[in-house]
Amino acid sequence: MAAEVIRNAPSSVESFTLLAFEERLRSHLESRLQIRTRFADLGSTRAFLVSPADRGRPNGLVIDVRTGAAERIYLYVHTAAHIALGHNMPLITIVEGDDETASDGLRHDQADGLARAMWWRRGSPEMVASLPTVQRSRLLRPLLERGATRSVLHLALRGMRAVFYGSGLARIAGNGTVTTWLRQALAATAVVDAAPQLAER
Ligand SMILES: [Zn+2]
Repeated sequence: MAAEVIRNAPSSVESFTLLAFEERLRSHLESRLQIRTRFADLGSTRAFLVSPADRGRPNGLVIDVRTGAAERIYLYVHTAAHIALGHNMPLITIVEGDDETASDGLRHDQADGLARAMWWRRGSPEMVASLPTVQRSRLLRPLLERGATRSVLHLALRGMRAVFYGSGLARIAGNGTVTTWLRQALAATAVVDAAPQLAER
């Protein structure tokens, strides 16, 4: 594991909408849940949350630099769920690995269950405000639940975005309902594509 820890999210070519949601969630975690996020090369570990001995001090969330914005959004919601479940005991490190077996003895499936509820807009008002509003769409959830329709939807939305921006329609529509829906639907689909557990029933 490299020692270098950086403060800002790794930069790559990502949707501005996704990055904006990520930033909102990240500042929600910092201001409401006392979670400070940093980034480092973690190898096969995706993230870990270190809880201090003193509850008055912030928790440290370190995320692997190779994660994309969609996966980071999932990790923030999942971490918020761990905190809501009281898993962040003093001096406990919560490890989010790539494998199924939890080395920290914690119920990550419980956190996923709560993360799912938060993602579908049953979290705290501030958390809900940080997420794309489009999850209220009755159309989206059934399409995101199954891997096959999710992939097709992701492709279709990307195609629609390309046509929308390529044809100049986006300039005409400005920041209207269609543009906003398209951007948010793409962002929400990208997150569930990165974390299918958010869509399970
Ligand atoms: Zn977990």
